[in-house]
Parts: sequence; C-alpha cells; structure tokens
Amino acid sequence: MLRRLHTSLSLSLKKAFCLIALLSIASGCANRPSSPDAALNSFSGDRMLADIRKLSSDEFEGRGPGSKGEELTIQYLQDQFRSSGLEPGNPDGTYLQAVRLVGITADPLMTLSFGGHGRTLSPKFQTDFVAWTKRVVDTSAVDADMIFAGYGVQAPEFNWDDFKGVDVRGKVLVVLINDPPVPDPQNPGQLDPNTFGGKAMTYYGRWTYKFEKAAELGAAGCLIVHQTDRAGYPWEVVRDSWSAEQFDLESPDKNMKRLALEGWISQETAGKLFRTAGLDLAKLTASAATRDFRPAPMGLRAKITIHNKLRTIDSHNVVARLTGSDPKLKDSYVIYTAHWDHFGVGPEVNGDRIYHGAVDNASGCAALLEIARAYKQLKTPPRRSILFLSVTAEEQGLLGSRYYAEHPLYPLARTAVDINMDGMNVHGRTRDVVMIGMGNSTLDELVADAARGQGRTVKPDPEPEQGHFYRSDHFSFSKEGVPAFDPDTGIDFIGKPEGWGLEQRRKYTAENYHKPSDKIQSDWDMSGVVQDAQLDFLVGNNVANRDVMPEWKPGAEFKAKRDAALRSAGTGN
Ligand SMILES: [Zn+2]
Repeated sequence: MLRRLHTSLSLSLKKAFCLIALLSIASGCANRPSSPDAALNSFSGDRMLADIRKLSSDEFEGRGPGSKGEELTIQYLQDQFRSSGLEPGNPDGTYLQAVRLVGITADPLMTLSFGGHGRTLSPKFQTDFVAWTKRVVDTSAVDADMIFAGYGVQAPEFNWDDFKGVDVRGKVLVVLINDPPVPDPQNPGQLDPNTFGGKAMTYYGRWTYKFEKAAELGAAGCLIVHQTDRAGYPWEVVRDSWSAEQFDLESPDKNMKRLALEGWISQETAGKLFRTAGLDLAKLTASAATRDFRPAPMGLRAKITIHNKLRTIDSHNVVARLTGSDPKLKDSYVIYTAHWDHFGVGPEVNGDRIYHGAVDNASGCAALLEIARAYKQLKTPPRRSILFLSVTAEEQGLLGSRYYAEHPLYPLARTAVDINMDGMNVHGRTRDVVMIGMGNSTLDELVADAARGQGRTVKPDPEPEQGHFYRSDHFSFSKEGVPAFDPDTGIDFIGKPEGWGLEQRRKYTAENYHKPSDKIQSDWDMSGVVQDAQLDFLVGNNVANRDVMPEWKPGAEFKAKRDAALRSAGTGN
C-alpha cells in the first residue's frame, strides 16, 4: 500500500517541483534547487512507525521532562539526527539546548477573602476559585483594592482600550474571559468580523494574555471570571489544571515581573462578589462589549497569602541543522518543531500509569526525524538553512518552544517560518488538509500550491472559536513575530464515508487524548503521516528556496511585531 502511494504521488508531486523551479527562475536565483523527488520518495511509514514504537514504549516512561524518560528520548533523537547526517543545531557544537524549568506547587490550604461594604466573602479553594503565582518565591501575599476591567484588553489596531488610562498599579483586576463580543453593525445577530476576528478567538481572548497585560500595567493580581460557554470548557477543567504543580521557565529575576496573584473565580462566585460590591455583573458584561467601557472600582479588597513548594528541573530542547547552499541565504532559517515531551508516569487509568503519548507527540517526532532524513536525500541542500527542533515541556504550557523563541540560537528576524507538528494523522490518506491560522500570512498560497501538487485541498480550522492557533509550539514563534504553518489532520478520508474523519477525532479526544491509552493501535494506517510529512517537507523546502520570506497579511495580529523585528535587524524582504 505504501509503495503504491509513492508511485501515484510522485507524478503529482513533480508538478509541485516544477512550480518551485519556476518560482526560483522567476526570482532569479543563482543555483537552481535540486529536485525534491528523491526526498519525497524516501518517506517511509514503516520507519516512522518504528520511531513511534520506540518513543512511546514502556521503557521511555511517557517522556516526562527531567525524568529517565527524557534522558532516553533526547538520546534517541540525537542518535537519529547524527546517523542521518544532520549537523548539531546548537552553535556550541551539540544537539542540545538546556532549558531550566521550575515546578511550583501552591499550598492548597490557601485562603482568599473579599472584604468591603461591611461584608467579607470567603470563597473555597477549588470549589469557588483557584489561585497561584508564577513568581519563584516561597510566599506571595496580596492585600489590594479590586477593580473590574472588562475583558482586560488593549488593542490599538481595533481602537480598543479597556483601561482608558486608569491607574491599576497595585490593584487586583477582575476580568472576563475571551475576546470582547462586538456585534456586527451590519448584522447585529453576528460578531463583527473586523473586530477581534469575528467568531474566531484572537490572542486577546486567551487567559495568558489577560495575566500578561495585567502584569505589564503593574497590577498586583488578576482574577478571571469563568464562564463555560466563553472559556470553551467547564469549571472542572479550570480546577484540575491549576490545582497541582505548575511548571514555568525561570527568568533571572525569578519571574518577579509576573503577577503576585493569578487565578480564576467561578461564575457563581463572581455573582456573589459583584452583588456584594453593589454592581450588576450582567450590565457590566454588556458594557464591556463596547468601546465606551470604563473600569469599575469595586470597593472591595482581595486578601490572600500563597505558600509555594519549589523545585527546579533541568530539561532540554534537541536541535539539528542542515546548512543551506546559498552563500547569502544560508544565514536564514526554516524551523520545523515537534515537542518530544508527554506526561511521564501519572495517575493509573485502566491498569496503566505510563502516559505513552504515541500520537501526542511521538508521531510528530517521527515526522520530524523523517523530514530531516528526507532533506538529506536532496542532491543540494535548499538555499536557506533548516533547523529540526524537538522541544520540551509543550504539555506544561509551550515552555520549551517559548524558551527557544526567547533565547533563539539563530536570529528570529532571519527565521523565515516555523512548521509545527503535533499529533499526526494515523488513519490513512485524506483529500484535504486543515490549516490552522489560514488567512493570516502569505503561507496560505505556498501551502495551497503544495497541497494542490498532492491533489488535495486546504481547509480552514473547523473550530476557530477554540483558539487552536495559540495552543501549540508554533505560537511561541508567532508571538515573537515569526510566521507559522500549523497543519492539522484533514477530515475527508479517501475510501471512508463522510463524517468518518470527525468521528475518529472525537473518539481519540474522548478515549485516548492525554490518557495512558494514547498508544499505537492495530488499525493505524501510516499513509496519512507520509502524506502530511511530505506536505510539510514541500512547504519548508519551498520557503527555503525562495528569495522572500513569508509575511503576515495586513491586519494579522503579529504583523506589527514582525515588522519591528525586521526593521531593527535590517533584514526586511
Ligand atoms: Zn498534548
């Protein structure tokens, strides 16, 4: 089956190559890129399955950062890169980038109180609120005035400012989750497509943004009001995600620029809180969806002391390099990322305590290794250099990729694109491919060209309101301005009835996602991994051979950051 796939594909892929060649001639490059045929034909589902089998085996203990599983994993990845002929990716001559993580466990006996207007509320930890600090300190205490700040958003490109110059330094902000839901003036039943992406979630809607903005404005703390429909998940998810040990990167200032208090309160708790303050939460919520909103002081003080247990973990990103063939362009980079970590050994489910993470993300690592091997099959390397970066601690909040983006081994202003692989399609070939973040950058056209060469179509994210673009490692790069390709599994499977693809997704999410049972299954069909890895190869190879780097389209949320970075580095297109 795999052999047949290769023959039938190589014909259509020749078209893709012709396109690349044409583009290069049109752009007048000196050395013509070598044909990708040998590289494309080298992709092997069996070899990738063997990688997945190794990485998801009991021996690798679920690949927890800092564990014996990490040692085995990073050794395996380095061995594979070395034996495939890839150079060490760190300029220090190694395949590793050290990433120090800090584990912070807040004492669950913490008490929080809201006092004022002659009353005191004492919400219960986990039932009514969760709270923590990312400061690396034994104790964090807050006793401060509270102020409701709407959605806590400052977005000049949408002429939006929830703060209106009000000084929130030293205060505890109370904010709503998600983007401000601004109605479309033409069609008030729908969201305005020109403000905060319409029904798609922008970064302003994510909880990480709320805490970052509050810290930037000098607030002491920030509490987010949970609403199931607007957050996209029930209170239990909030409770379980923030009640145990939390990992973060440790900055030289011990994260003292972060908030002294971060947290969520349940919607019911928020109701009581606003009633105590003599404020109408429903009215304020409605007002927060308009540009006229002004922060509302609550006349209450929030009081909490958080005691932490701390530990540090030495973890690693693994990085390999293929040096480009163009004397000028070889100092710019195409990056492929796939996180190697998973949850290690954890709570037992159905008699298994090892979180194997076969799909999430042994499969992405296998694709990364196979793409690296394929690049070595090219007669001449592409013009730009290629980095193969397997990052740690994605499951703990994209930490390894954030570390790389904040401490890049090569300048981000010369990083043309990040192509991220997180969870490959193990159910066979598709007629389509989903592109998360479609419409944001000139990568749209490159991906469409490569997909067309495979006889496939590109579809946008079927769930834009879920904010998928912000949930895997490419986002760490985009946040620093680098355009990113985040491919997702197609849903239109060849030889399967309509709806079958979505049913497989639903089954995986319900039964295996982030559970010990995410293992290799007997019904896997690796031809889909081959097809998608070939697409990722084609897109990266194309970017690496073109004169110009991909660009954000006007209005894209990370365009300003990129433009500034390119300007200051003098590396604009
Ligand atoms: Zn995961």
